[in-house]
Amino acid sequence: MIVIQLNQRQQKIIEIVKENEPITSEQIASILSVTRATLRSDLAILTMTGILDARPKVGYFYSGISNLNFVGNDIKNKKVEEVMGIPVVAKKDDSLYEVIVNMFLSDAGTIFIIDKDDSLCGVVSRKDLLKATIGGGDMNKMPIGMIMTRTPNIVTAIKDESIVLVAKKIIEHEIDSIPIVENIDNKTRVIGKISKTNITKLFLEIVDN
Ligand code: ADP
Repeated sequence: MIVIQLNQRQQKIIEIVKENEPITSEQIASILSVTRATLRSDLAILTMTGILDARPKVGYFYSGISNLNFVGNDIKNKKVEEVMGIPVVAKKDDSLYEVIVNMFLSDAGTIFIIDKDDSLCGVVSRKDLLKATIGGGDMNKMPIGMIMTRTPNIVTAIKDESIVLVAKKIIEHEIDSIPIVENIDNKTRVIGKISKTNITKLFLEIVDN
């Protein structure tokens, strides 16, 4: 399957043609308040790809585009903020035991660790907890701060970032979840998370639509 990347104006043109076919390029230009010359390359792309059909002296018809062609566009336009979930956090001084209980109760695979001033200072995954328990120390006495992956090694994202970029970070760093952070009063606060589950859900949502 070839995924066609349409820009916003091309998508608008398709909508206009769908609603008004047959329609001339002058009429499309007038609806969009642009000149015909401006539309020339967009119309050329849309006819070359077979999405629009141009009939001389009649105008443009919509000839069809598979929904799948839009999947690439939909995903590329999504921002983290629209997809992110609620983060689960624990305090740096919480014991290993408390964090394990927290993970079970919250049904999260990754827990973000915050400092006394509520700023992000670490991340723990299921395997981190397993490793620490195998170690054999006292789970009630060991603070989670001792075993977490800490700053500056934490991979983060911000709410305006593209979801595609976040998906790339997840794959490149081989991690399950990324905290979404915001600088509030000079502190790195965790305001959300993007996990593999969020991305899988988004994928299904787009295909279902
Ligand atoms: P698991 O280890 O349970 O398979 P991950 O693949 O997410 O889960 O974690 C692998 C390692 O990467 C762990 O040591 C974890 O602390 C660390 N890690 C998890 N998420 C991040 C992140 N966002 N930034 C940096 N390190 C992370």
